[in-house]
Amino acid sequence: MKNWETLEADEVRLLSKHFTKGRSGAKVSRIVLHHNAGNLSIEGCWNVWQTREASAHYQVQSDGRIGQLVWDGDTAWHAGNWAINMGSIGIEHADISSSPWRISDECLDNGAHLVAALCKHYGLGRPAWGVNVFPHSQFTSTTCPASIASDQREAYMRRAGEWFDTMNGGAAPSAQVQQSAPASNALVVDGNCGPATVSKWQQVMGTTVDGVISGQVVPSGNYARPNLFSVSYGGFGSQLIRAVQARLGLEQDGLLGPATIRAIQAHLGVAQDASFGPATVSALQTRVNENRF
Ligand SMILES: [Zn+2]
Repeated sequence: MKNWETLEADEVRLLSKHFTKGRSGAKVSRIVLHHNAGNLSIEGCWNVWQTREASAHYQVQSDGRIGQLVWDGDTAWHAGNWAINMGSIGIEHADISSSPWRISDECLDNGAHLVAALCKHYGLGRPAWGVNVFPHSQFTSTTCPASIASDQREAYMRRAGEWFDTMNGGAAPSAQVQQSAPASNALVVDGNCGPATVSKWQQVMGTTVDGVISGQVVPSGNYARPNLFSVSYGGFGSQLIRAVQARLGLEQDGLLGPATIRAIQAHLGVAQDASFGPATVSALQTRVNENRF
C-alpha cells in the first residue's frame, strides 16, 4: 500500500461494472477473505471480472502489491450473499502454489496488514476470526479462501493482530514465528454441551453468541413446505446449525437432526451414531479450542 493509514492502494484499477454503487445505507462491519484459485495480478483480476459477474474491493498479489478494484464505499459482488456484500470489504489473495493452495509470505503479510488497516479505519476492533474477519466459505458453499481458512489461518490472523497493535501504537510485530499460547478461554473437554461449549462453537462459526443452540430462531424461509417448517409457523431452526450445515454442504434447515449429527460426526472423525453425545461433544470441544470447526 502507498499509505496504510489512508488506505491508498499501490495501484487503483477500478472496475466499471459488476459491482453496485454505494452500500444501500449499510456500514462496513466485517472483512471477507478470498483466494484467487490461481496466481493473478491486479490486472489479471480486472480482466477476469470483465466477463464474470463478480468483484472484490482489493487484490493482494504474490509480491505483496495491493490493488483497489472497487472503492470501499461501493458494494463489491464477492460473498455470494447480498446482505453480507453490503456490509463487508472483500479481499482477494493470489495463490503462489496450487497443490496444495498456498499464498506467499509477502501476500500473507500484506493481506494481514490490509485487514489490520481496515479494522482500524472502520473501527472494527482487533482482527478476530469469526468476529470481524470471515472466510468466504462462511457465507456460501465454497472452499474459498482455501489455505487462508486452514493451514495459513493462524499465521495470517496472528500477523493481522500484530499489525493492528503496531498501527495503534503497540510494539512492532516480531518476525519470529511464535507458538500461540493456549487460549485463556479454552473449554474443558468434558463431553458436556453446555452454554460455554455452544458459545465457543458460535464464536468459531461467526454466528450470534448466546450459548444456546436453539436460541437464535430465524424464519426458515421455506415457503414451499406448508408444515411446521414453514414461515407461517413462525419458522425455527438455529442460526448456528445453519452455519454448520452450510459448511458441511447440507440442506440448511437449522435443525440438529440425525443427518446433520452424522455429518458433524464424520467431520470430527468420530463414530457416526447420530447421537450428539459425550464422544461427539468432546471432539467438538477439542476442535473449537483450536478456534476452528
Ligand atoms: Zn471467494
